[in-house]
Amino acid sequence: MLILHCPYCDLNADETELAGGGEAHIKRPGMDADDTAFETYLFSRKNPRGPHFERWRHANGCGKWFHAARCTQTLEVFGTYPAQTLEPPADIIAKIRKRHPDWQSDTEVKVAS
Ligand SMILES: [Zn+2]
Repeated sequence: MLILHCPYCDLNADETELAGGGEAHIKRPGMDADDTAFETYLFSRKNPRGPHFERWRHANGCGKWFHAARCTQTLEVFGTYPAQTLEPPADIIAKIRKRHPDWQSDTEVKVAS
């Protein structure tokens, strides 16, 4: 059974209290974006085998949306954080890298080398 910690009401909620909302950290393209960018925004979603950032709602609890980082292969939960967070917190990234050293996040800001 999936159990996620709600960062708002500080409860561990099981899957009967939660509603999934799909992929987290999807950024809406600007008004000057082309059709391909809007098509990608509307219809393209990742479906990785491994660490993934998802949106969840504590539907039968406080009702608020939050983000969860979990592994789709093992169902290990790396952490949850408020939905207003624009990027995954560094401590959650560190937990993921500890379990999956080769994992690359595409939500982090890329630093030119
Ligand atoms: Zn809650």
